[in-house]
Amino acid sequence: MKATMNALVYGGVGKIELKEVPVPKITKPTDALIRLTKTTICGTDLGIIKGKVPTVQPGTILGHEGVGIVEEAGSSVRNFKKGDHVIISCITSDGSCEYCKKGMYAHCEDGGWILGHLINGTQAEYVCIPHADNSLHPIPAGADEEALVMLSDILPTGYEIGVLNGRVKPGDTIAIVGSGPIGMSALLTAQFFSPAKIYMIDLDDNRLSVAKKFGATDVINSGTEDVIKKIMAETKDGVDVAIEAVGLPATFDICQNIVRPGGNVAVVGVHGHSVDLQLQKLWIQNITLTTGLVSTNTTPMLLKNVTSGKLEPKKLITHHFAMDDILEAYEVFGNAGKEKAMKVIIEAESPGKLKMAKSENAVLAEV
Ligand SMILES: [Zn+2]
Ligand SMILES: [Zn+2]
Repeated sequence: MKATMNALVYGGVGKIELKEVPVPKITKPTDALIRLTKTTICGTDLGIIKGKVPTVQPGTILGHEGVGIVEEAGSSVRNFKKGDHVIISCITSDGSCEYCKKGMYAHCEDGGWILGHLINGTQAEYVCIPHADNSLHPIPAGADEEALVMLSDILPTGYEIGVLNGRVKPGDTIAIVGSGPIGMSALLTAQFFSPAKIYMIDLDDNRLSVAKKFGATDVINSGTEDVIKKIMAETKDGVDVAIEAVGLPATFDICQNIVRPGGNVAVVGVHGHSVDLQLQKLWIQNITLTTGLVSTNTTPMLLKNVTSGKLEPKKLITHHFAMDDILEAYEVFGNAGKEKAMKVIIEAESPGKLKMAKSENAVLAEV
């Protein structure tokens, strides 16, 4: 095995660099070393670069999503061995602390969201995963691995923190504010429960037309229409569930103004500022407000729905890049509106193989 690898390294606010760094080594018997095949960029990574997550130290390799192959399993790892194909969960968990025993892996006392945050992450050729037994998921033979990158974070986040926390029920009218990857994941998984009406709200008409294809019954461009007025006029007294999937005071404000008495507001967005909670109106409305970090305990269920074809997260993927071009991938993902980008896949495999695959695709595209 080689000694160095390419990795996307955070250099402080506003700075990222593709660098050659040492290949990580297993330090604990519960660790596993994973050779990444595919990784991606999350909105949270953009937040880190903007300085929203000051706990990330310069020098950290970013990324908390990806699929790969076990290169080496620590001596006490029981569920995985060298050569196994795995999904890396964005949440690391020991499976044995008080929070883990409640299924709340997000708050694991020796884990939680640490990848690409407090320890080196997945935007690299290799990553060391602590507590491998509980923090990796096996990929069934023949599965489309690219689609499964969406199971590291966005699908379980949209489902657990949006749909489940929001208690979406059959026949509900729901509104999802924000049509990015997380909002779209909530849109796809909300349909497990057959809501009667799904409003998707965004500033970008392209994203809204994609949302319609993915199952939204109604779309509203909040830049050109008064969302609150329109929804209140169309629904009599508001929506049963409002899912906030942006992370801004303005999008939270939409949610608190469109939720009906007895309804739920589920906050999924990464909020960097305080919001103006209209408690003087809401105190008498019997609403439930939830927040959360994904625990990924629904990942095995979601995996079954992806392999059966019921859930098609692959349609969230709009762009592909080689590891060597990851800075370009950040440019495209960072200008998602202009580039019509949703999720970008970074191929971490050897550049030789990739260039071949790329040129074949180019020929196909020309035909
Ligand atoms: Zn993420
Ligand atoms: Zn734990």
